[in-house]
Amino acid sequence: MATSFDVIVVGTGPAGLTVALYAARANLKVLALCDPEGSNLERVPRIANLFGFPDGVSGKKLLRLAERHATRFGATLKKEEVLRCRDCSMEKAGSLSRKKFPKAKFTVQTTRAMYGARALVIAAGMQIHSGGIKNEFAFFGKGIGVCVACDGPFYKKKKVMVVGNGNLAASEALELNTFTKEIVVNTHGLKSKIDPSWQRRLAQARIPIINQRVAAVHGSKWLDRVELTSGAQESYQGVFLALGTASAVDFARSLGLVMQGNAIATDPHGRTNIKGIWAAGDVTGAPRQIGKSVGDGVRTGIDLIESLRGGSYVDHREA
Ligand SMILES: Cc1cc2nc3c(=O)[nH]c(=O)nc-3n(C[C@H](O)[C@H](O)[C@H](O)COP(=O)(O)OP(=O)(O)OC[C@H]3O[C@@H](n4cnc5c(N)ncnc54)[C@H](O)[C@@H]3O)c2cc1C
Repeated sequence: MATSFDVIVVGTGPAGLTVALYAARANLKVLALCDPEGSNLERVPRIANLFGFPDGVSGKKLLRLAERHATRFGATLKKEEVLRCRDCSMEKAGSLSRKKFPKAKFTVQTTRAMYGARALVIAAGMQIHSGGIKNEFAFFGKGIGVCVACDGPFYKKKKVMVVGNGNLAASEALELNTFTKEIVVNTHGLKSKIDPSWQRRLAQARIPIINQRVAAVHGSKWLDRVELTSGAQESYQGVFLALGTASAVDFARSLGLVMQGNAIATDPHGRTNIKGIWAAGDVTGAPRQIGKSVGDGVRTGIDLIESLRGGSYVDHREA
């Protein structure tokens, strides 16, 4: 049987789950979908800068709590990868999806089923660009970092390599410089795309740029060595991957959403250029942080409730 929802949210990270919570509390029929990889937070052992958690919290625990919160108010969560989202107004009259979902504005095709929705929220996060380094994911949060703003303080006075060949690597290295002076930018066998102005800033900070492909990282509990493809092993306590954030929004491009760099452009309410589609969280750009994703989820949730139900948002539902 065809299943139709008021709102389909692509993503069950902090942004998607916040939208699902708000929409469900407003009695909208909500489906939130996630791929098998899940949120980046699944692999973060300790979050130390989150509002309300003075002793830190693991990403897994935070996500399980947020999932319970959203489902408690009626949101449906499914582990199904979204393959395509379609705007029904672009479909021919009499097409299969039009017949199946006569009232839907959008259809969402997952690996298992097709769903219809009146509104769509893209909260698919940003994929981390792998360096193809052996053991990199095993040391995630234990010496491998991807965000200096999140993890920089763990590397005070430690020897750190920033792997990347663009301006992102240079800016991450300069941000790290407040915590440690032992930093190397490694373009990882790739042609450097670091602009001269960023090169100058690195030189002023005495941060060298090297070009040696990293083969593997090693250590016991925490990363302590970097192995180069030459076979040489060097002592490091941290490696930041800064190879650029790959966009997780390819399917959004196919909807014709306007992008700004690798982020989906939105207005202050989280609306995209297509009526009925909102975007929230990391997909909308920096700062890529949990607090910002939750904030995006709130503004989007409220705006879509007002748009689907009419009137001004009031949360009068009992706990
Ligand atoms: C190692 C690491 C450490 C971090 N530490 C911190 C920290 O200490 N503090 C902090 O504030 N931030 C931290 N961050 C950043 C934080 O993880 C992100 O800002 C936050 O998770 C973004 O939330 P989001 O909901 O936008 O996206 P995500 O949490 O990435 O969630 C994206 C969701 O979209 C789903 N998805 C993607 N594509 C599809 C598809 N095709 N079909 C279905 N579902 C899909 C995924 O399964 C996932 O559910 C860290 C990130 C990393 C990688």
